[in-house]
Amino acid sequence: MKIKDMLIATRPTVSFEIFPPKANYPIETIYETIEALKDLRPDFISVTYGAGGTSQDNTIEIASKIKNTYGIDSIAHLTCVTSSKSSMIETLEKIRSSGIENILALRGDIPQALLDDKTWTPEYRYAYELIEDIHKFDNFSIGGACYPEGHIESRNKIDDLKNLKFKTQKGLDFLITQLFFDNELFYQFREKMELLGIKTPVLAGILPVLNINQVIKIQELSGCNLPPKFMRILNKYEHNPEALQEAGIAYAVDQIIDLMSSGSVDGIHLYTMNRPEPTRRIMESIGTIRRALSTRREG
Ligand code: FAD
Repeated sequence: MKIKDMLIATRPTVSFEIFPPKANYPIETIYETIEALKDLRPDFISVTYGAGGTSQDNTIEIASKIKNTYGIDSIAHLTCVTSSKSSMIETLEKIRSSGIENILALRGDIPQALLDDKTWTPEYRYAYELIEDIHKFDNFSIGGACYPEGHIESRNKIDDLKNLKFKTQKGLDFLITQLFFDNELFYQFREKMELLGIKTPVLAGILPVLNINQVIKIQELSGCNLPPKFMRILNKYEHNPEALQEAGIAYAVDQIIDLMSSGSVDGIHLYTMNRPEPTRRIMESIGTIRRALSTRREG
């Protein structure tokens, strides 16, 4: 099913993100993860591309299997900044022939070596150029990324929002956010989207924090705000991994219930980190809320 149709029938959706195993690990290991996630009945599963040197072929293979073997809707992430236009057309052909109906169209991070190379002339500079090319295929539902706290490269949040508006005007069916730990910043972002007339549905990316190194890395990469309540948890359980994990799950559940109850979110996208158990715990905790919201929709 196309995610754009899903968002008409079901809101808020609850979906998962997984990543392919690193290049030197067998691809089969991810199927154990999917096997464990499938009973949790996500609306769809997204498969990332590029991290840890993984190939686009792995992303396509996994996203296709999620749909065709496990019967769960899937979305393939696709980055463009290091790609040529001609190889992108080939990739899009592959995605289409594998039966995948949804693509998350991304620019991708620019590798430092290319940034340093003064002769480098990218064929894609921004995600919107990829969105234009995907539309030529006429059979995908297309999503894009957004950043409630601003994209790390952006000079200011206003420019970032204007760029986001331009990107959505190229024809995006939905947006998935960068993870965030401070719901207030998400609500402010939604208000600004509204003021700018950006009406694209937004799925909130939520990560249950499982260890302290993960938070340090994420903070470095995204510059996301760590609110005082979250910092108290980190400081308190820094040296007790089990307690930190428990608190991380509880914090994510709290965030999700607040977001779902606010009515300002069209979906929750859980960054599973390929860890079924914390995902299961979260799904169990939000199950009743999820059902209550679908009952209200049907009623
Ligand atoms: P864009 O929308 O092109 O924006 C990039 C920057 O350019 C922003 O600062 C923006 O303000 C600016 N900009 C955009 N349009 C214009 C314009 N017209 N004129 C001037 N400036 C402009 N990375 C991966 O490698 N693999 C993944 O699987 C992956 N999955 C992701 C999933 C989600 C939900 C998110 C939020 C990010 C993901 N990323 C992934 C990271 C993403 O590739 C990086 O954040 C990347 O730096 C930006 O990609 P984008 O599609 O948001 O780019």
